[in-house]
Amino acid sequence: MKSWAVTQAGQALEEIEIPSPSAPIGTEVVLDVSHCGVCHSDVHFWEGFLNVGDKKIPLEAIGMHTPYTLGHEIVGKVAAIGPDVKDMKIGDIRLVYPWIGCGECSDCAREDDNLCSSMQSLGMRATGGFARQVSVPHQKYLVDIGDLDPALAATYACSGLTVYSAIQKLMPLAKDDPVVLIGAGGLGLNAISVLKAQGHENIVVLDVSEQNRQSAIDMGASAVADNSKEDILDTLPKIANGSIKSIIDMVNSADTASLAFNALAKGGKLVQVGLFGGTLTIPLSLMPSRVISIIGNLVGNPQELRDLITLARSGKISPIPISCKPRSAVSDALSDLRDGKVKGRIVLDSALSD
Ligand SMILES: [Zn+2]
Ligand SMILES: [Zn+2]
Repeated sequence: MKSWAVTQAGQALEEIEIPSPSAPIGTEVVLDVSHCGVCHSDVHFWEGFLNVGDKKIPLEAIGMHTPYTLGHEIVGKVAAIGPDVKDMKIGDIRLVYPWIGCGECSDCAREDDNLCSSMQSLGMRATGGFARQVSVPHQKYLVDIGDLDPALAATYACSGLTVYSAIQKLMPLAKDDPVVLIGAGGLGLNAISVLKAQGHENIVVLDVSEQNRQSAIDMGASAVADNSKEDILDTLPKIANGSIKSIIDMVNSADTASLAFNALAKGGKLVQVGLFGGTLTIPLSLMPSRVISIIGNLVGNPQELRDLITLARSGKISPIPISCKPRSAVSDALSDLRDGKVKGRIVLDSALSD
């Protein structure tokens, strides 16, 4: 089958022939990819390394060798099903949960695939959505999107799922308890939208960019502030109208993590999502005396994706801007994303001619 593959890191993707998925056995499902979002992580994978802030890890070190097929925000049409697949037929449209685990460890047994230490994620170690077809080992990785726009639904598998899972880690929360979001880029704006969909009314957004702060207000943030201001620690509880017990750091640099830690009131939780990287030095006695939790978050599990899609199908989540492009535009899409020229998401649509 055809794949727009990375044949050489950082160079234009090439349309090459790769092996098609074999006929599904057991619970396997093969889908024809109809839509695939182009994500910031694809840019890193295209460039050939994972940026962990202080250092860059080559992709070979995590088992990705050229040629590889990126793309993890996938909606497709069911093309073939294994004999043990139930209540699904050829032609059904499904969103793919791409963060698939090894299927053998205790985390995978609990359907916490995103905690598995041998993930076989689509668009990383396994063929992703920049190819004509993808294969998943079990139908539990497929979510019915109903009447949702498939191009929009595709994006929920990554940034939408990430913020949804991060928000669940702050629960339980009263609707007027302040939630502080650091960073009003794509993830931050998604987080505002999901919080509002879940009934939250006190969402405070910090960003150093005035334009991003305005976007946060437009998306429905209750208050915004510039986190580069020297007095931000003193003013934040007033801006938030309460003590700060819930923070999601979508940047997660040395500066933002330190600000977040110092801003937390007793009993506070900090969920770290961003991959900017750096180092945080913590006065250890403050952890027990202030009963603080610092929690890392990597995407989310299949149940969280199902719950997010249920919320989206109820019509409560404001959509992010989407522009659909043919698959042949994938290299330009990656370059534009790298250069910060994309508002919202570019989604490759197989119905548009290559
Ligand atoms: Zn992604
Ligand atoms: Zn596993």
